[in-house]
Amino acid sequence: MIYDALIIGRGPAGISCAIYTARANLKTLVIGLFGSSLVKADKVENYYGFEMPIGGKELLIAGEKQAKRLGAEIIDEEIVNIEKADHFKVTTTKNIYEAHTVLLATGSPNIKAPVKKIDKFEGSGVSYCTVCDGFFYRNKKVGVLGYTDYAVHEAMELLPFTSDITIFTNGMPLKLSDENQKELSRFSINTEKIAELYGGENLEGILFEDGRKQELSGLFVAYGSASSISFALKMGIMTDGKSILVNDKMETNIPGLYAAGDCTGVFKQISVAVGQGAIASRQMIETVRKMRKDG
Ligand SMILES: Cc1cc2nc3c(=O)[nH]c(=O)nc-3n(C[C@H](O)[C@H](O)[C@H](O)COP(=O)(O)OP(=O)(O)OC[C@H]3O[C@@H](n4cnc5c(N)ncnc54)[C@H](O)[C@@H]3O)c2cc1C
Repeated sequence: MIYDALIIGRGPAGISCAIYTARANLKTLVIGLFGSSLVKADKVENYYGFEMPIGGKELLIAGEKQAKRLGAEIIDEEIVNIEKADHFKVTTTKNIYEAHTVLLATGSPNIKAPVKKIDKFEGSGVSYCTVCDGFFYRNKKVGVLGYTDYAVHEAMELLPFTSDITIFTNGMPLKLSDENQKELSRFSINTEKIAELYGGENLEGILFEDGRKQELSGLFVAYGSASSISFALKMGIMTDGKSILVNDKMETNIPGLYAAGDCTGVFKQISVAVGQGAIASRQMIETVRKMRKDG
């Protein structure tokens, strides 16, 4: 089945968009983890319509209930890849979903992996994009920095280029689905705490806290969940390095792909995310209606 509107992210931007697309009779799917920034907000008192402060979690749950009542489907899965050919294919750690239009509403991009000197080697051994840079590391020794399903997905993307792949968790326990747990035997796993990366002009390896070293040609960062910026790098979505670039209709440079909320880097507030989600929905609705009319 191909969804009309597939929304990535269950925060205010994504859910607001889903409310509009579902009410406009678009087959709407929201995919995301319950990981909105709002989960951390104890009290919100600047959002319209609430006389007394409301908890961030409470607001999120109310929004999801509203979207579901109106016909949107919401599923709790982690997205690891988005591709576009005829239509969009969105890969989670469990399934692949297809859609005519997609909204990126993934919130603020992840904070950088907490490893010293990672910035120094960005572009000279440290990469955030296996699709873009995997080819440069044919038959070389590479690492993936991460501990979740996303890290395993990125390690699998590197397999056509090299079999010498180590997943470095930097002291974090692995957090994997059963399916990815089965794939682990294809890689080496290192769970030691990293002190820093080392090298001259290019990355040469990892120095661990106990003073030991591990030589490496390349290190791919997949720490936590894939962020809007990781998707942008893989799909060629234009960014300013930190945020997705959109026009005033919330369109990205890729037809049919929209972005809203904190991932666009505008004033990071619920009201703005909700508003941008609504604007994006109008374009998604128009696009799908035109497709239906054209047959
Ligand atoms: C502590 C705190 C307090 C705040 N207080 C206020 C306040 O009082 N008032 C106010 O207006 N704003 C407040 N904000 C800001 C507000 O939370 C954000 O502006 C708003 O949540 C942005 O909405 P969003 O939908 O763009 O992103 P988010 O709400 O962050 O939602 C992002 C969604 O994308 C999902 N996601 C991301 N990547 C993936 C992936 N790879 N796979 C699956 N799912 C993914 C996340 O799990 C989440 O569901 C606060 C923020 C913080 C951190």
